[in-house]
Amino acid sequence: MKIGITTTVPVEAMLAGGHTPVDLNNLFISHARRADFIERAERNGYPVTCCGWVKGIYGAVLSEGIEKIVAVMQGDCSNTQALAESLELHGVEIVPFSYPFGRDRRLLREQLAVFCRRMGTTMTEAEEMRLILAGIRKKLQIIDDLTWQDGRINGFDNHIALVSASDMFGDPDAFERELDRLLEKASRKKAPVDFQHAIKLGLVGVPPINPDIYDCIEQNEARIVFNEVQRQFAMLDSASDLVEQYANYTYPYDISGRIADIKEQIRLRGICGIIHYVQAFCFRQIEDLILRKKLSVPVLSIEGNYPGPLSAQNRLRIETFTENIKLARGSE
Ligand code: SF4
Repeated sequence: MKIGITTTVPVEAMLAGGHTPVDLNNLFISHARRADFIERAERNGYPVTCCGWVKGIYGAVLSEGIEKIVAVMQGDCSNTQALAESLELHGVEIVPFSYPFGRDRRLLREQLAVFCRRMGTTMTEAEEMRLILAGIRKKLQIIDDLTWQDGRINGFDNHIALVSASDMFGDPDAFERELDRLLEKASRKKAPVDFQHAIKLGLVGVPPINPDIYDCIEQNEARIVFNEVQRQFAMLDSASDLVEQYANYTYPYDISGRIADIKEQIRLRGICGIIHYVQAFCFRQIEDLILRKKLSVPVLSIEGNYPGPLSAQNRLRIETFTENIKLARGSE
């Protein structure tokens, strides 16, 4: 059965139970009628002052006839409960999942066990699936390395590969074939000559609703070499079991884990600036002030609202940000 997911959840349990996970964010943003999905949500009573991703998911579920979704009630989005309740009105079945505050492993194990039961499988079968998917996660790791080590895979392709790990296209074999194609294409390329001197930036925060942000950054002689949240979705760090894998995942817990991860990657990847993407009307915008305080490199916050191209104002702000980094480099 096709089951929609509102964010990354234990995909191993869904696949072990014989279901086809569908990441509703990816379904919405890649759909030709994505603007209609948002319009439908607003017509049905969603406020204009609600996040575009939430409205897009709502519209996508109803328009695409998704009958069941997994909704993460703790650790993802403060709007998910209301989203789930408004979908229930239309007969959509809701399966809740929660990431326990404070990464409590006992509670996380219990959540995983309950989730496995709801998916019609067991922890043992889900663990077996974890081992099968480990080969795919290794390939994602190589893709990520090729992005920051020599630029043979650009920031946008890195973003698409990593963000798609949440549902693995609902078909891990097809997903792996797509990763193989990307790796094969990269193996035939030479590393871009200007890569070593390019301004290396990290993109942190929720995945951007305006994907042309990557082109805009490259047009300014800079490159995204780190997609923070997308990399977390891909779960590249090795783990001994499902509990450890989902406890290592930084995104649903407190921000200190995310900051430690971002700092480590800034150091490892030689990143000289961070772009913090924030979504209009998202509670996570508050985290911007913490990131600015805790990170030692310049931070530019870019806000998006509706899907489509970046605004002229955001393009200008990116241009100014990269120019300032270039000037600071020149004066060193
Ligand atoms: S961008 Fe923020 S408000 Fe919107 S779905 Fe994501 S976490 Fe929720």
